[in-house]
Amino acid sequence: MHPLRTIYIDMNSFFASVEQHEEPNLRGKPVGITAMEGDIGCLVAASYEAKYFGVKTTMSIKEAKALCPRIILRPSRHRLYVKYNQHIAKIFDQYAELEYVRSVDEFQIALGGKTSNLKIASKLVQTMKDALKHEIGESLKFSAGIGSNHLLAKIAGKLEKPNGMQWLSPDNMPDRLLDIPLEDLPGIGRGILFKLNSAGIHNVTEIYNLDPKHARKIWGSVIGERFVRLLQGENIPLESTKRGGYGNSKMLAPENRTLKNAYLVSRWLIEKSVARLRRDNYTASQFALFLRIQNPQSRWGSSIKTHYSQDTAHFLDINRKLWRTMYIQKHPHLISSISIQLGNILPLPKRSGEMLLPMEMAKKNERERLARTIDTINKRFGASTVTYGINKAHNGFFERG
Ligand SMILES: [Mg+2]
Repeated sequence: MHPLRTIYIDMNSFFASVEQHEEPNLRGKPVGITAMEGDIGCLVAASYEAKYFGVKTTMSIKEAKALCPRIILRPSRHRLYVKYNQHIAKIFDQYAELEYVRSVDEFQIALGGKTSNLKIASKLVQTMKDALKHEIGESLKFSAGIGSNHLLAKIAGKLEKPNGMQWLSPDNMPDRLLDIPLEDLPGIGRGILFKLNSAGIHNVTEIYNLDPKHARKIWGSVIGERFVRLLQGENIPLESTKRGGYGNSKMLAPENRTLKNAYLVSRWLIEKSVARLRRDNYTASQFALFLRIQNPQSRWGSSIKTHYSQDTAHFLDINRKLWRTMYIQKHPHLISSISIQLGNILPLPKRSGEMLLPMEMAKKNERERLARTIDTINKRFGASTVTYGINKAHNGFFERG
């Protein structure tokens, strides 16, 4: 048998289950979680009892009530769900090697050695299910997928809901997915589906049998090659950069379009974005600035590669240099929009020492530690208690919408 390397855990109807745990008289009843207080808008989650009536997440409240008149609505309490997420992560960590928290209700466990065997991995899943039941309560259930890699584990996790457990490896692939439509696989959106169909690929068996190099051509990127290799069971770890980068854009209100104001807003955007980068424990090694110039009308953009950093002052320095270059080239009077991007990101624990900047792997340098301290102060006393020189907050101006 092929070794199994990952367990993927997806909490079932997570927000609704948390509310049912918190409020016992909701248990066994159809519950819908709404984005806002009151009866407007959409559901962000539904309990299994509500799903039984055909209620789906993202359905409007009106539709949900038509299908299930007795549905009980509760407003979403995101902070509470994050607390539960952390508690659950702690519990899993006691029994298994928790590798990633993939989202507020998804967890990834690493398997290896003895646990890469199906029987032992299945036992581990059962142990974790029991632990949740005993340490939190019966309301919280999950579906688990065991797989040769994170993609197969994730697909397996979706095969049986709620409270399921399934596995996928080259030992049962692609036959186990014979009835699954291509668009149900994670990563196959409408655009890729169209490209696959155009290339004569219509089902899981056909995509499974693709030459990865051919997949790369169909996708038009290395993502396709990766996807097919993963489907075939290859051991490719989850990419640490789940998102492309950290950035922020603002359309400027007319009174803020002067060069000086626009520059100050760019500084504010950087402070915000780098603080988020630090909060998520990432570093970035590329900084890009894009401007739309109103007078004389044009666009300007440029990016600079640097060492991996999460230091606000460092990115503010680069920003100043870019603005200077831009000024020399464009001599703008009015700037109508600003976009900044922190790209090529890497988790701090994976940063190795830099040649120019002696630094132990994963250690923060002095300025980064200072930046963290500033984050803590701002979190405690309000967002702009400490800033890096002058900046200008610029909230909520939209050209359209
Ligand atoms: Mg879920």
